[in-house]
Amino acid sequence: MFELKVEDYLAAAHNLREYQGECEALHGHNWKIEVVVRASELNSIGLAIDFKELKEALGGVLGGLDHKYLNELAPFDEINPSSENIAKYIFENVNRLISGSGATVYKVTAWESEKACASYLEG
Ligand SMILES: [Zn+2]
Repeated sequence: MFELKVEDYLAAAHNLREYQGECEALHGHNWKIEVVVRASELNSIGLAIDFKELKEALGGVLGGLDHKYLNELAPFDEINPSSENIAKYIFENVNRLISGSGATVYKVTAWESEKACASYLEG
């Protein structure tokens, strides 16, 4: 099994509904997003997935969220834009965008500060 990781950043505002504490108020984060993909085989030139394709997929997903108020965007208008749900959203959308490659997303981690992160994995 081969494993690759890329990182990017998401600057956005959110607030957590029904949260009893500071995060119920509007505030922002500069999330660091890590995407780990896995592939059991390499392509004909020895790559699990072209880093360029993976970076473009992540950049495309983050581009729809960057510098936005997440609570106004689907699906975060219905589910809380927590780091957990953001990680899951990025997982599903990056996985869809790279579905033509031999790699699949294994784990997405959203760092909401230097000391705290949430990850989403499947399987
Ligand atoms: Zn927050």
